[in-house]
Amino acid sequence: MTLTEVRVPDIGDFADVPVIELLVGPGDTVAPEDPLLTLESDKATMDVPSPAQGTVGELKVAVGDRVSQGSLLLMLDVADAPATAAEEAPAPPAAAPRPAAAAPDQGGSHVVVIGSGPGGYTAAFRAADLGLRVTLVERYDTLGGVCLNVGCIPSKALLHAARVIAETEEMAAHGITFAKPQIDLDRLLAWKQEVVGRLTGGLAALAKQRRVEVVTGVAKFTGPRAVSVAGTEIAFDSCIIAAGSSPVRLPFLPDDPRIIDSTGALSPADIPGRLLVIGGGIIGLEMATVYHALGAQVTVVEMLDQLIPGADADLVRPLHERVKRRYQAVMLGTRVTSVEAQRAGLRVSFDSGAEETFDRILVAVGRTPNGGTLDAHLAGVTVDQHGYIPVDRQQRTNVGHIHAIGDIVGGPMLAHKATHEAKTAAEVIAGVPGAGFDALTVPSVAYTDPEVAWMGLTETDAKAHGISFEKATFPWAASGRALGLGRPEGMTKLIFDPADNRLLGAGIVGVGAGDLISEAVLALEAGLTAQDMALTIHPHPTLSETLAFAAELQDGSITDLLPPRKHR
Ligand code: FAD
Repeated sequence: MTLTEVRVPDIGDFADVPVIELLVGPGDTVAPEDPLLTLESDKATMDVPSPAQGTVGELKVAVGDRVSQGSLLLMLDVADAPATAAEEAPAPPAAAPRPAAAAPDQGGSHVVVIGSGPGGYTAAFRAADLGLRVTLVERYDTLGGVCLNVGCIPSKALLHAARVIAETEEMAAHGITFAKPQIDLDRLLAWKQEVVGRLTGGLAALAKQRRVEVVTGVAKFTGPRAVSVAGTEIAFDSCIIAAGSSPVRLPFLPDDPRIIDSTGALSPADIPGRLLVIGGGIIGLEMATVYHALGAQVTVVEMLDQLIPGADADLVRPLHERVKRRYQAVMLGTRVTSVEAQRAGLRVSFDSGAEETFDRILVAVGRTPNGGTLDAHLAGVTVDQHGYIPVDRQQRTNVGHIHAIGDIVGGPMLAHKATHEAKTAAEVIAGVPGAGFDALTVPSVAYTDPEVAWMGLTETDAKAHGISFEKATFPWAASGRALGLGRPEGMTKLIFDPADNRLLGAGIVGVGAGDLISEAVLALEAGLTAQDMALTIHPHPTLSETLAFAAELQDGSITDLLPPRKHR
């Protein structure tokens, strides 16, 4: 036994941070990497891991003490001679399909990850945890990609503000009236940016803790085993392309600062009086929700005949009904044909023959993959005509040691798809047995008001492909919780296989639908039947009950509504 000092390791840009929790006490035995105590900065919390196996001796700090790199934390009685840095990480359990961490790769396998969005940073961190040497290349100074910086996270912060405003207005019908909100846009945007900064700063710290080398600059392939970043060549054994996507531009629109994309919409200088949103998909409608709540008169134009094309029409209907009443106009089956920049505004012509002037236009007509920007042909990687990089279920491109993940490979452009693909790619490279993308579904959510969420088989697809199904739809008007929230317009729809009553798909519209859909995803992954879901006790009164009620409808055991005729 050797008495060893445990000090604060290199923890990134943290200095003089408080100890917020002691996770061990004198006499506790710990394994390598076991968390010893937790530190917190304004950006993130982090656990200090044990450097070796041993028994905890005297603690040298208490909760509330402030520490920096090198500060003495505790004494550790180490069982054998202290492990070298290369030996510190535990070997993966032999048969575990998804090891938590692995011994550093003895062959020195070096993975370069291009792009630090949810795909890239997840791949980099997982690869590092599996013992690989990782370089993460990001063209911007902050990590996190579109999702953290100009996508999921800032939009949801602003949508929360929109929800609060809408709720105060809705309470007027129930006897509680609030004054019109005073909106300090600078403060609101600063708060949104604080949320973003907390997450992106946390990523930088996590990268440092994992010894992931972060290189800032644009990466381009120079051959099948190297990229160049700002004139420096970086060689790799394996590469993961996670370079994401960019907003689609409409070529006929004039170059005018009043015409913005989602990135501009998340940091406006002011709130326009009249806003035209081109595109009635998820991003356009989420931004419309925010701008309407902040006081803009919103018009949405969509060339297809339904908002959120891709979702079942019955799920979208309650959203359409609500926004139709609130927005200036919702134009379906309509295209913008031209926009003329005038001093008084942007004069817009529609193919219906109508013309109208707006103060600002948000273009939200989709995103295009960045596959064409990487000189991928120099590595021999196939990029299709749309800029997507085709991959197999192990996320391999046509070049075996180069993988691709996230928006750039196609499929739903969603962060949670990117992160799952990221883990697959990292695990395949690290040689984890059986690694492959095998999720049965990627859930989709529009965080509009009401939210629309769906997963698995949609009714539209089932009909289009002649797949036999049975559906059970529970209207939220029969949910006590939805009534108490003043939002009974929602519904929960479950789609079952008539052969064995297994869940095939689900769609939910209503407040909080984005959270509720997870239960259906789990049920699908677990192969649950209507009976399984109906027999699962859901707390009352909750919106989650609507999933159980829909399952009871299918099962014939519902009591909160009349059972369907086939069960009577
Ligand atoms: P990205 O996040 O696009 O990251 C790619 C990174 O690669 C970027 O940081 C880029 O700078 C970098 N890069 C590109 N080329 C190079 C290069 N040559 N060298 C170095 N670096 C490079 N998804 C959800 O799941 N939920 C949501 O609520 C949601 N909301 C959204 C809201 C908005 C407004 C937008 C625009 C998107 C939203 N998305 C949402 C989609 C989500 O942001 C993307 O699906 C996700 O970010 C894709 O992750 P990724 O890792 O593939 O790529």
